[in-house]
Amino acid sequence: MSWDVWGHEWAENLLKKHIAGGLTRHAYLFTGAPGIGRRTLALAFIKALYCQDPPEPGGFCGSCRNCKQLAKLQHTDLFIGQAAAPGETLKIDTVREIQHNLNMQPYAAPWRTALFLRFEEANLNAQNALLKTLEEPTPLSKLMLTASNENALLPTISSRCEVIRLRPMALDALAKKLETARMMLPDEALRLSHLAGGRPGYALQLADSPDDAERIVSIAQDGIELLGQGTVQRFAYAASFKDVKKRPVLRETLQVWQSLFRDLLLSVSEEGSDSPVSFLDLKDDLEKYAAKGSPKIFRESVAEINRMISYLNANVNLQLLTENLLLNFPNL
Ligand SMILES: [Zn+2]
Repeated sequence: MSWDVWGHEWAENLLKKHIAGGLTRHAYLFTGAPGIGRRTLALAFIKALYCQDPPEPGGFCGSCRNCKQLAKLQHTDLFIGQAAAPGETLKIDTVREIQHNLNMQPYAAPWRTALFLRFEEANLNAQNALLKTLEEPTPLSKLMLTASNENALLPTISSRCEVIRLRPMALDALAKKLETARMMLPDEALRLSHLAGGRPGYALQLADSPDDAERIVSIAQDGIELLGQGTVQRFAYAASFKDVKKRPVLRETLQVWQSLFRDLLLSVSEEGSDSPVSFLDLKDDLEKYAAKGSPKIFRESVAEINRMISYLNANVNLQLLTENLLLNFPNL
């Protein structure tokens, strides 16, 4: 019986084998892009570890008390730690509080589990604090981390975890899942699969809120139009980020533009011609602007956007940051 996690069958099989063979490790690190299913897979794993009536070794029933409480993220032996919001900092106090709880005996499950989400957001103090738990694990505890990639963490942390690297699903397989689960028409399901870059969690979020999907396409459209626009329009666009409360909007904008420039890169380079683009809606514009640029130009833009995203975590002037980026945008 499957865990009902979309994609990542190899990881599910591996984790099931760990449970069935009594070989579970103390710590696991689930890596991959946001929306790829890191948390979903970790939670399914915890259900399989805690289930009171597993239908098979490594499975879970979904209806016992432990399974039900875990589905609501309200289990007395589960402790979730994360930054207050994506992009913020996970601090040492959060780690310490959870470590304190991990040291106590489990109430209703064989282990107490700490689940730290987006652990790349943990500052150095917080990461160092967690290192202690990894080096001297308490016997009845499990540690699960999610992160965008293992290089974003201290090497001493990732080396002590079993790393489960999640990759996007094949787009047609994801589209088929969406058609069945959300009764979507094939074209729309495929469009969303592209938009989500094969990330099942992200695709489901877009399927459930079509406004989000429209907004993302519109942000990409803005980005591609800016390539043909001069300084005046670029400064005007940057001025829309004057308010410091726009930080999450700018974060989303930069993330969408990462995908946009990746699309341009795929559209311009020979080797990318088989890889699917994210923005099927913008195919004509992508081809038009790709023809005017070069792989080098688009690669540099991706690097520049990545840099800007890392600056976002600091206390920066958003408008200036955006102006800086847009001045360095290619002029096509
Ligand atoms: Zn169960």
